[in-house]
Amino acid sequence: MSYQKDVEVFMIAGDQSLTKELSLKGDQQKLYMNLITEEYKETLEAFQNNDLVEVADGLADMVWVIMGMCSSCGIEFNKVWEEVRSSNMSKFVNGKAIKNNSGKIMKPDTYFKPDIKKVLGI
Ligand SMILES: [Mg+2]
Repeated sequence: MSYQKDVEVFMIAGDQSLTKELSLKGDQQKLYMNLITEEYKETLEAFQNNDLVEVADGLADMVWVIMGMCSSCGIEFNKVWEEVRSSNMSKFVNGKAIKNNSGKIMKPDTYFKPDIKKVLGI
């Protein structure tokens, strides 16, 4: 199982549509973008209230609606994640960050940008 698959089970049960077709145009995509905003605001409020329980709940809700957005747009989240993960990890050489004198993590020759277009096949 994956988070995205869990959310897809919920979406099917709730008569929401899943698509393999890449698209941002539709009421369901708008709905999920609104839900992401709503959950972010709730999480921020919980953070400002120093409420760890509600922050944890909010973070999970955010992941939930982000997965819903992915499945509404035809995005296979794991593929995008893997590309971004690989890019981020390419900043390390032999497991270590290269920092300049002020402590900034530099981008070594091994660094590569995530190729999201390639991952999405567009
Ligand atoms: Mg919530």
